[in-house]
Amino acid sequence: MNTRIVIIGAGQAGANAAMALRRQGHAGPVVLVGEEVHLPYERPPLSKDALLRPQQARLALYTQEQFAEQDITLKLGLRATAIDSQAGTVSLANGETLAYDKLLLAIGAQPRRLPALDALGECTHVLRTLEDAQQIRAQAQAGKRALLVGAGVIGLELASSLSELGLQVDVVDPARRAMLRNSPEPIGAFLQATHEARGVRFHFATGVQAAERRGDAIHLTLDNGTQLQGDLLVYGIGVSVDTTLADSAGLRCEQGAIVVDERCRTSQTGIYAAGDAVVQIDADGQRSRIESWENANLQAAAAVSDMLDQDLATPTVPWFWTDQCGYNVQFAGDMAAPHWLLRGTPGQGPFVALGLADGTIVGAVTVNAGKDMRPAKELIARRAQVDEALLRDPAVALRELAKMS
Ligand code: NAP
Repeated sequence: MNTRIVIIGAGQAGANAAMALRRQGHAGPVVLVGEEVHLPYERPPLSKDALLRPQQARLALYTQEQFAEQDITLKLGLRATAIDSQAGTVSLANGETLAYDKLLLAIGAQPRRLPALDALGECTHVLRTLEDAQQIRAQAQAGKRALLVGAGVIGLELASSLSELGLQVDVVDPARRAMLRNSPEPIGAFLQATHEARGVRFHFATGVQAAERRGDAIHLTLDNGTQLQGDLLVYGIGVSVDTTLADSAGLRCEQGAIVVDERCRTSQTGIYAAGDAVVQIDADGQRSRIESWENANLQAAAAVSDMLDQDLATPTVPWFWTDQCGYNVQFAGDMAAPHWLLRGTPGQGPFVALGLADGTIVGAVTVNAGKDMRPAKELIARRAQVDEALLRDPAVALRELAKMS
């Protein structure tokens, strides 16, 4: 089969899709187009090791040699500018046109921008790329004051890394608590207390009203009147998708993202999309928008399976993790579950939070208890209903409960 496959976007989803095509027997041309000049790299370390241990941080997903061995053509440092879905071509910024039989859009997302903060100049950053991490690292000397806007995963991982580097950290978020969108109340409270114990100061339920630069210092006035000063500012307030390419191909978009089905097929035959740029609508009409490392890999695999007419992997319980202040925190399932119970005590060693809806286990968070994640996911996948007293008892292993259910 000499099907020409072009992948736009050389991040987690794009690079893994290219490799999976070869692993699963595709022999035709594979071209991977990426706007960044670097070989495809992992983003999770950018807020952690790339700041704390830049010399040792391992970022590259694959080496140049691995791409060459797999006969994958890399076109890096090049932006795809338009798709002609009738002609089956992609235009690149250098004037080149690539013909495809099948196309995967793995174009990721961009940090949402706040022009009033960008106007502060080079002491203001977002964090998405290796260059962003390098610029933050260059300004993150011990004793400096860091202002973080947004108490989501980026804000908290940065609070952890920057406080470890010896900076004074203030975090501002209009939300009422940390990681409101993607963690349950007890975990948000635990993380906040953990950061505060290291000296991080949180300013919740208030936004930035005014921002200005006075000499080298940044001055923020918050909605509640608080005045903050800093030497650098990083903001992480979520992401948005650039749908220009999708629009050029006439792809259906919703909620500012590219609509795909459970096989990652877009509204145009032969065009797929995967990763942060996607809203997935399954056969029951359920919509999910999951911005995670795992989801990028799974959707890339689903698109490849469909391209090669192979069976789709069984769906899994969504999972992601964060590392903060020496804690590894893993999340699975529905973080909006109405009722959460704890196994173990926050602050006194490893513990697990289990989320229930009408007595059914629908979500789980492990804190320094990664070995409990697999049985927790099994319980969620089976929609298990287990006696609450047993669930609360750390002496009864979760894997035993998973076997029983
Ligand atoms: P995020 O986790 O969605 O958090 C953004 C936070 O910023 C939210 O708390 C949001 O509050 C708040 N916010 C929104 N508008 C604001 C404003 N004007 N001023 C102050 N705060 C504001 O997004 P993120 O931290 O920017 O992360 C970006 C992406 O990177 C996400 O896709 C994330 O999944 C990914 N990422 C993942 C990991 C990981 O999995 N460990 C680590 C780093 C990054 P509301 O919720 O109230 O809007």
